[in-house]
Amino acid sequence: MNYCETKSVVKRKGKESDETLSFTNSNNNNDMSSHLLDRNRAKRYPLLSFWELPNYMKDNEYILRYYRANWPLKQAFFSLFRWHNETLNVWTHLLGFFLFLGLTLANLMKPHVVDLLQQFTRSFSSGAEKNVSDNIKDLFLGTALLFDLKHQIPLKMELESTDLVIARWPFFVFLAGSMFCLLSSSICHLFSCHSHDLNLFLLRIDYVGIAVMIITSFFPQVYYVFLCQPHWQLVYLAGITAMGLFTIGTLLSPSLSTGKYRAFRAMLFCSMGLFGIVPAIHACFVNWGNPRRNVTLAYECAMALSYLTGTLFYVTRIPERWKPGWFDLAGHSHQIFHVLVVVGALSHYAATLKMLQWRDTFGCDEA
Ligand SMILES: [Zn+2]
Repeated sequence: MNYCETKSVVKRKGKESDETLSFTNSNNNNDMSSHLLDRNRAKRYPLLSFWELPNYMKDNEYILRYYRANWPLKQAFFSLFRWHNETLNVWTHLLGFFLFLGLTLANLMKPHVVDLLQQFTRSFSSGAEKNVSDNIKDLFLGTALLFDLKHQIPLKMELESTDLVIARWPFFVFLAGSMFCLLSSSICHLFSCHSHDLNLFLLRIDYVGIAVMIITSFFPQVYYVFLCQPHWQLVYLAGITAMGLFTIGTLLSPSLSTGKYRAFRAMLFCSMGLFGIVPAIHACFVNWGNPRRNVTLAYECAMALSYLTGTLFYVTRIPERWKPGWFDLAGHSHQIFHVLVVVGALSHYAATLKMLQWRDTFGCDEA
């Protein structure tokens, strides 16, 4: 099938699908007026094919149909509950945002819950039980760890560690950064169809969200690993913050957010990621004798693998490049990338919990 044939088939199919996708069902006469109203609305804001798009929205030529373009903000907002080619892009990160919001709230409320539970459970706790629960929790990549930090700590240590107060703010900085990234991405995907200006602005916010997530991911790891070497904490945290602020300033400047500087922007993200190698290698030496090192490293490797695989899908635009038009609604590369970003952030969360447990238990003794 040549280009023109494909185009006409796509247009024809696009029209049929628009009707099935956008209209509400109404089978009786009473609903006739609302049905007509819906038809008129859908005619005013139909889903378009790639060739009908304004130039600023022509980004992925392998996604052929179900585009929104130049929609008012209200219609764009309610398209959250309608099928188009951005529906799953919005929902994957919106659900990720709510997941991290839930984790944040659970961790904020938890100390009181743990304190209360400790009064009842201390005398019934046994080491054997804890070992079993430890293994089960590790199997679920940190998701089972979500709501308790202290249960894996041996009873004796738990009692001794009540005086030990390890700051939680770096952990919450990471949670806030992840929520900001996931929410700004959802908003970008939902509203970027509104206008060229808003599209440019939201794309910049989306880039800033990625930068914020990278920067804030460093905070708990650097803070807890180098807890007992404050000068290294300062060097690494100041370094990544300065680099992050420079990157954000660059991404927000209109002149540097054009296509001409795409390679420069990519280089900035990469240099922020690569910057992490220095404290990571340093951390391995600092924690060489720490028994939790391998578990933490395994979670961090899972995170790196998720991000790298996600970036690979993002850049190669697989699978839609193999079968253009087949993955318009579900299964295209950007959706896979989004899911892998959430998986990567969850792995980092699990690694952070492990490190926090270790510091809560031992303070600086084992460093
Ligand atoms: Zn995205």
